[in-house]
Amino acid sequence: MCGIVGVHGIDRAAEVVFLGLYALQHRGQEAAGICSMEDGHAWLHKATGLVVEGFDDAAIRALPGRTALGHSRYSTAGGAGLVNAQPILARYHRGDLAVVHNGNLTNARVLRAELEREGALFQTTVDTEVIVHLIARSREDTIDAKIRDALSHLIGAFSVIITVGETMYVARDPWGFRPLVLGRARGGWVAASETCALDLIGGRIACEPAPGEILKISGESVETLPSLEPALSPAPCIFELVYFARPDSHVWGVSVDRARRAFGRQLAREHGVDADCVFSVPDSSNSAALGFSEESGVPYELGLIRNHYVGRTFINPTQKGRDFAVRIKYNAVREVIDGRRVVVVDDSLVRGTTSRGLIAMIREAGAREIHFRVASPPVISPCYYGIDMPTKEELIGARKSVPEIQRHLAVDSLGYLSLEGMHAAVAEHGPFCDACFSANYRAPLIDIEEGMPANSRC
Ligand code: 5GP
Ligand code: MG
Repeated sequence: MCGIVGVHGIDRAAEVVFLGLYALQHRGQEAAGICSMEDGHAWLHKATGLVVEGFDDAAIRALPGRTALGHSRYSTAGGAGLVNAQPILARYHRGDLAVVHNGNLTNARVLRAELEREGALFQTTVDTEVIVHLIARSREDTIDAKIRDALSHLIGAFSVIITVGETMYVARDPWGFRPLVLGRARGGWVAASETCALDLIGGRIACEPAPGEILKISGESVETLPSLEPALSPAPCIFELVYFARPDSHVWGVSVDRARRAFGRQLAREHGVDADCVFSVPDSSNSAALGFSEESGVPYELGLIRNHYVGRTFINPTQKGRDFAVRIKYNAVREVIDGRRVVVVDDSLVRGTTSRGLIAMIREAGAREIHFRVASPPVISPCYYGIDMPTKEELIGARKSVPEIQRHLAVDSLGYLSLEGMHAAVAEHGPFCDACFSANYRAPLIDIEEGMPANSRC
């Protein structure tokens, strides 16, 4: 997954993009990049690691202009290293062209093979680069039509921001898989993956581009270009609400906090239990655990504390193993747990490794009973639309039944939110893509059908 930001018509645009990326850091921590535009020319800086690690004052000041784009990258699939970090920049005869992309295309390999046969030379291994080649090779006359033509060839998930010179284009795929909002700030325009970025910049939402919509932003004007062919049904990703987005954001007009509380309340209705307290696995399930507590009346406690300073690459040479990795990140509060019947709410269960380690820790802290509750259904199938999930073989929900998972985790009871219950909790905002929970893939998986490996995610 990734976070994207685009700024148009604001002084020191790169600085504003930096702030936006800072707010979107949770969407990608492996690399960050900012590209700025002035007088049709682009400046680019990319660095591995967190946004603050890669951009000091000097780096930001070296990016001039009132238009800029930024990206924070999550996955190393498709090849680690800076060459695959975004923005992707091309020196184009109509003005430098830059692209940032959140989502995962499902036909990028097929498109790339076609483009390579026609002589295109690729510099990266990420799917986003096909967009640049498709624009450059389009036979349409105007740059607007070329961009629409390029996007119309793409299948899968893409929220994109494209700049050609200082003109900015903002678009979402016809399924609307990934979030993207357009806001006003400081007299200009800001596009960002989530509203929490706008909040930090001091902006307010102007609109959320609809699925398939392409907006062109130039000066004061926002023009709607002819939309992409609509999908059979829009399918925004429900996992954004379950886990990925920040609870202080609104995505697709939905408050992520309210959605998670609704999941937690529904979970309590489906799998209520007599217990002394309920707590979350901070921070991702805080809101869901609150919802569970509100609905069930079981008191909310802080039973686990998370260390916020755990580096991504910290490896202790003397004590390896997953249990130790869990201990580095979390610790149990004995006063909350000892001798008590506890409900632990997590937002999702993916591999089951973190949870198993946590359960052992909670047991050691003296829990009398542990009732594990998951505020989403079993994850049974990988995401090909941009959420970085392990292969099917590694997904515990794909390999084991619920009673088997209960034994594996060594808990007294286990309850998952039902698929119907999850949809019902956010029904007024749906329908949603739930492929990771149902294996129902709304956009065709062209590369996989053609026997090619699934593409890199971003
Ligand atoms: P597990 O017990 O399956 O190893 O880990 C479950 C935890 O992983 C949950 O607390 C959930 O918040 C978190 N999680 C869910 N999806 C993702 C993801 O895509 N990336 C990361 N880093 N964590 C995730
Ligand atoms: Mg978590």
